[in-house]
Amino acid sequence: MKLAVIGTGYVGLVTGAGFADMGNDVTCADIDEAKIAALRAGRIPIHEPGLDNIVAYNVSEERLSFTTDIAAAVQGAEVVFIAVGTPPGEDGSADLSHVLAAAAAVGRALRDYTVVVNKSTVPVGTAERVRRAIAAETKVPFTVASNPEFLKEGDAINDFMKPDRIVIGCDDPRARDVLRRLYEPFTRTSDRIIYMDTASAELTKYASNAMLATRISFMNDIARLCERLGADVELVRKGMGADPRIGPKFLVPGTGYGGSCFPKDVKALMATAREAGHGLELLEAVHRVNERQKQILVDKLLGHYQEASGAKGRRIAIWGLAFKPGTDDMREAPALVIIERLLAAGMTVALHDPVALEVARKLLGERAGVSWHQHPYDACAGADALVLVTEWHQFRRPNFGRIKSLLKAPLLFDGRNVWDPGQVRALGFTYYGIGRP
Ligand code: NAD
Repeated sequence: MKLAVIGTGYVGLVTGAGFADMGNDVTCADIDEAKIAALRAGRIPIHEPGLDNIVAYNVSEERLSFTTDIAAAVQGAEVVFIAVGTPPGEDGSADLSHVLAAAAAVGRALRDYTVVVNKSTVPVGTAERVRRAIAAETKVPFTVASNPEFLKEGDAINDFMKPDRIVIGCDDPRARDVLRRLYEPFTRTSDRIIYMDTASAELTKYASNAMLATRISFMNDIARLCERLGADVELVRKGMGADPRIGPKFLVPGTGYGGSCFPKDVKALMATAREAGHGLELLEAVHRVNERQKQILVDKLLGHYQEASGAKGRRIAIWGLAFKPGTDDMREAPALVIIERLLAAGMTVALHDPVALEVARKLLGERAGVSWHQHPYDACAGADALVLVTEWHQFRRPNFGRIKSLLKAPLLFDGRNVWDPGQVRALGFTYYGIGRP
């Protein structure tokens, strides 16, 4: 099938590469000329495991190409995916300006019947707004469907190629049939396509992310309670997760959720709910708990130093900046909040991340009190403490002897509970985790 994908970010690029890998002819279009130039030169603008190989292979097979010419991409395509960003507006609601601009551009380019699919995460009612934006530009027949994307950054190719479910919001049998044919190769072992109306599909995406965010905030709140009661959240979560009605995933406490999806989708769903006259009280609390959780490591650090000679002037090594392992995505990363607060308290920071240094450096800029380190142990040299923010694999079993010899004081703040408190204390470290003694 001939396809176009409008927007070549995390979702658009994975979508384009994944469909091409199933044998379709895909053109990925973006208004960002630098991004398209990089892709044409064989460079992948984001860090996503396996994406470089699948892109290179399908480009070499001439099934995948990149352009800034949206009309050329759309013309002749049977299905056009809109996968542009939907960042939060000032009131938290999703900013649909990119989606509607893309829709208008698609409308201007249509020549034959086309199925236009919203893959971006968009509020209920957007399919209709996209339909109107296209209809304002063309008399050519088309159908708008909603097909939210559930991939996880860091494992996006796997999620796209072997999806748990494919949600298709579409009432038109002709368009449903086109999308069924497109997605069938992805669900050969069991039928995982779920058809519904567009409003339900749009809400399914937000409700899913809101549920995952709720689990995280719930466990972060329980972790704080554990600290007051002398319980160990690591044992509590294992005990809870063994119940098949609960399950073990997304029960791990930490420094709060971040990234390009949960924070903005939680806020957008709250805005949708407010507009609909039904405040989502639970979600308001989920958001509040998360904002508070991003402060927990610095609270602990300041708490520690009040007992010693004060925090001002301390140098703090930070391991992990990306909002989670496996990506260089820094959008709403808790590390940013932590760094700003440490700097505001008069401390300096020595930063390391295996892949996100460059992105973080662009975001934070060159600042007094910030140093950047390609090697994790270099960040520790002469620092007063080591803070782990993102649990990259390579941080899970580090050489603690080496860390101790580099730090000025043997002090660890483990924002993801990946280190064994007994082991590191036996080595002479002072250890702070989240919700554990
Ligand atoms: P992104 O910011 O990485 O990419 C968006 C791309 O769209 C950019 O390259 C931008 O230049 C391009 N663009 C903007 N306006 C355009 C236009 N008018 N025409 C052509 N291109 C245009 O965003 P993303 O992370 O890929 O997210 C895209 C959507 O998918 C969002 O709605 C997001 O919520 C949703 N989503 C993201 C993820 C994720 O993990 N990143 C997962 C599921 C769903």
